[in-house]
Amino acid sequence: MPELPELEVVKEVLQRRIVGTTIESVEIVLPGGAIVVRDLTRGDSVAALTGATISAIARRGKFLVFALPPLYLVLNPKLTGRLQLAARAEKRMAKTHLVLALSSGDELRYVDQKTMGQLYLTRDLDAVPDFAGMGPEPFDISLDAFCARLKLYRGEIKGILTRGEFVAGIGNAYADEILWNARLHPYRKRTQLTSEEIVRLYEAMQSTLRDAVAKVRAEMGEQIHVKPRDFLAVHLKTGKPCPRCGTPISLVGANQRITNFCRTCQPGGLIKGM
Ligand SMILES: [Zn+2]
Repeated sequence: MPELPELEVVKEVLQRRIVGTTIESVEIVLPGGAIVVRDLTRGDSVAALTGATISAIARRGKFLVFALPPLYLVLNPKLTGRLQLAARAEKRMAKTHLVLALSSGDELRYVDQKTMGQLYLTRDLDAVPDFAGMGPEPFDISLDAFCARLKLYRGEIKGILTRGEFVAGIGNAYADEILWNARLHPYRKRTQLTSEEIVRLYEAMQSTLRDAVAKVRAEMGEQIHVKPRDFLAVHLKTGKPCPRCGTPISLVGANQRITNFCRTCQPGGLIKGM
């Protein structure tokens, strides 16, 4: 589940390492490759990618966009997708579905244990599912605009934060971290938040994500396939002491939709037993 901080750092590494290189050969590894690669041009994606030069790489929300004029290759890694930069001789990881051999001698590989992510080949970014409707980037939105957008949404604050059309790039893990920093219970209703709490939420969103980008950058290095998360305060820290007050971190939910929070620092919520 790469979110804004991980993808921002992956983008930085790839900008440094592969912008300006040419794709010399393309291997869509079956059967997974046929599932993850979606050619929206309805053409021959191997032929279209072979010989293309990567002219720019950008991140937008939880997507990475590779510009291969006149085409774009757009990655939505969802919960399990990741990229790897490797030397050609390096053994492939299990569940490698796409391999682009670059003129630099490196290979850019797409690995996805559950084949959940997607790589779209397109001429039009708006044709990529969930792309055109994305909200602003968290670092680009002003406090006033944040407050105005928030009024458009009802329901629990964690659910709103993770909606890409509200702000882009925040998923389950960083929503937990932001709400812990803001000292807001994840199941507080948006309509119950005071204006002071909304300011706290906005400031926590910016500071949490900025700090995370710096920590991921320090820990990831060039190993873009790893996902450093040990530094998180509450997410995946069930039962560990809250770094602020020492209360064991609470857990609600299961599998990939878990919510972690500190019931002392983040009071409230209407669910029984919390
Ligand atoms: Zn606490």
